[in-house]
Amino acid sequence: MSFVPSITLNDGNTVPQLGFGVFQIAPDQTAAAVRSALDVGYRHIDTAEMYGNEKEVGRGIRDAGLDRGAVFVTSKLNNGYHRPDDARRAFDATLSALGSEYVDLFLIHWPLPTLYDGDFVSTWNVLEQFAKDGRARSIGVSNFQVAHLDRLAEGSQIVPAVNQIEVHPYFGNEQVRAYDRDHRIATEAWSPIAQGKVLDDEVITRIAAAHRKTPAQVVLRWHIQHGDIVFPKSVHPERIKSNFDIFDFSLGSAEMDAITGLDRGESGRTGPNPDRFDFIPD
Ligand code: NDP
Repeated sequence: MSFVPSITLNDGNTVPQLGFGVFQIAPDQTAAAVRSALDVGYRHIDTAEMYGNEKEVGRGIRDAGLDRGAVFVTSKLNNGYHRPDDARRAFDATLSALGSEYVDLFLIHWPLPTLYDGDFVSTWNVLEQFAKDGRARSIGVSNFQVAHLDRLAEGSQIVPAVNQIEVHPYFGNEQVRAYDRDHRIATEAWSPIAQGKVLDDEVITRIAAAHRKTPAQVVLRWHIQHGDIVFPKSVHPERIKSNFDIFDFSLGSAEMDAITGLDRGESGRTGPNPDRFDFIPD
């Protein structure tokens, strides 16, 4: 079994640097996918209320026969629930769906600066209560830009433990990563293989061939050496396994630089720009 390094968060809690993401896994496939990941050795699952599969994540963990404490579980506050009373109700519903008395990490999924009068600070203050009462072991944000993090810092007591943002070779998101680093916020890189879009890149396929690894393994290894936390998604057991098998090789500095050099700036995003994103699911 691979050895997965841990990252120590600014609140002293630790998280396995490599986990398993369940965005776009249908509820009826989720428990089996989570079970496959846990069987391979993953001990960190990233879900969200928005993904509609929290209940099945909880079931997958129980099916694997693991103690709740053996797995680091993250979920996220959905966009429709930013008002404090809604956030409290949504958090209760998340814990109940997961079948757990606590979550290891709870995030504000999107800042939604054009909604709720631009007020994500009072939402964050509610998450601070979840941290204080122990039901969220760590709290953090997702898709927060530098200006959002600055505004949060002015109106809060707890610095987010993590900021989960889009990062992959075509979108380095370096300005936000640098802010995170400077403020002891761990960066979690979502869509780490750009949902597959980087895997045919000739720089990546050349490096993969040199190491006798797959392009996905090379890209995930690049993230690990960058120091970010990642959780690739797959529903295929062989990919779930190979995405985990990235600790028996390392990339040289020229290889790291060549992959970092693929950054396309804003045009490299696969997802929406958080400054404008205002989607509220039904
Ligand atoms: P990923 O970058 O993890 O890519 C997933 C896609 O790549 C799937 O289509 C999968 O297909 C395919 N794939 C996986 N492994 C391989 C492989 N070894 N070879 C070839 N193809 C492969 O994208 P995600 O968007 O899912 O991001 C990962 C996680 O990040 C999410 O599951 C979620 O937890 C989180 N996330 C968070 C967001 C946020 O706003 N906070 C936004 C987006 C993601 P298949 O399943 O068929 O194998």
